[in-house]
Amino acid sequence: MKAPRFDYVRVATIAEALALLARHGDDARVLAGGQTLLATLNMRLSEPTLLIDITGLDALRGIERRGDRLWLGALATHSEIEGSSLVAEAAPLLAAAAPHIAHRAVRNAGTWGGSLAYADPAAEWPACLLALEGTVTVQGAQGQRRIAARDFFLDLYTTALAPDELLVGADVPVATAADWFGFDELARRRGDYAAAGVAVAARFERRIAQSVRLCFLGVGATPLRAPRTEALLAGKELTRGTIEIALASLKAELDPLPDLHHEGVTKRHLATVLARRLLLAADASRGALSA
Ligand SMILES: Cc1cc2nc3c(=O)[nH]c(=O)nc-3n(C[C@H](O)[C@H](O)[C@H](O)COP(=O)(O)OP(=O)(O)OC[C@H]3O[C@@H](n4cnc5c(N)ncnc54)[C@H](O)[C@@H]3O)c2cc1C
Repeated sequence: MKAPRFDYVRVATIAEALALLARHGDDARVLAGGQTLLATLNMRLSEPTLLIDITGLDALRGIERRGDRLWLGALATHSEIEGSSLVAEAAPLLAAAAPHIAHRAVRNAGTWGGSLAYADPAAEWPACLLALEGTVTVQGAQGQRRIAARDFFLDLYTTALAPDELLVGADVPVATAADWFGFDELARRRGDYAAAGVAVAARFERRIAQSVRLCFLGVGATPLRAPRTEALLAGKELTRGTIEIALASLKAELDPLPDLHHEGVTKRHLATVLARRLLLAADASRGALSA
C-alpha cells in the first residue's frame, strides 16, 4: 500500500511547528525519525493531511548533564544514546537497553522523543523512563509543561501530550554509586519488539536494597511498574528466598495482554524469568563490591 496524499513542511523553528500544530490539530503529524510514522502512513493506519518535519530543529538535539539530571533532547537518536559515554556513565540503564531496539538502521534514524511520543507498550524507552522516574518536557503555545513519566503514559499508544504540543525532551536522575541498573528482554528474533522485557533500577546500602523499581514492557497497554512486588523487595537483601517470595507476588500482580504470538500466561512467565535473572545479577554485583 502507499501513503495517502499529504502536505509536508520542514520547519525551521519550534514556534513555526507549534503554530502549524495549533492550526491543524489532529490533522497534522510531527515527523521525527519516521521509523514508525512512515510505516503507519503506508499501511493507512493514520491519514494526516500535513506532516511537520522537525528534524531541522537543533534546539531539540543534544544530550547533556543539567545538575543532577541527564537531559536528552527529543531528536537524540537511539544510536546517539547507545554510543554516548555520558549516557553510559550517567544513565547506564539507557545504555543497556539501547542495543535491544530494532536494528542498526532503525536506531540510526529513530529518536528518543519519537519513541516516547508514540508510546508503544513494547518499546524500550518508555519502560526505562518509568523505571528511572524521569520527566518529559512538552511545549505548546502557552509554554512548557513537565510531566512525570508515571503521568505521561496513559493508555495504549496514548500519552498526556496534547495534539498541539511538541515533545522537546525528557530527563532522568543521574546515577549514583549506590544505584544498580539492569535491562533484559525476550523477543522472537533479534531486533523484534519484545514479547516481554524488564528494566530494573535499584538503590543499595551495602547489600540491602533500599528500593527496587521494576518496570515491564510488552505485558500491558503501557509500560508497567509492579508496586506490590517492589514493596516486598525494599529494605531486604536480595537473597534467593526473598526474590522467590517477590516473584510469587509478581505472578499475581502481572496480568499481561496476549499479542499475536504469545498468550498472556507465556508473557507472565517470561517477565518472571527476566526479573529473576536481573534481581540475582543485582545481588551478585553488590556482593562482588562488598567482598
Ligand atoms: C523494523 C522496525 C523495528 C522496530 N523495533 C523497535 C523496537 O524493538 N523497539 C522500539 O522501541 N522501537 C522499535 N521500532 C520503532 C523505532 O524505535 C522508532 O524510531 C520509534 O518508535 C519512533 O521514533 P521516530 O523518531 O522514528 O518517530 P516517528 O516515526 O517520526 O514518529 C512516531 C510518532 O511520534 C510522533 N512524534 C515524533 N516525535 C515527536 C515529538 N518530538 N513531539 C511530538 N510528537 C512526536 C509522530 O507524530 C508520530 O505519531 C522499530 C521500527 C522499525 C521500522
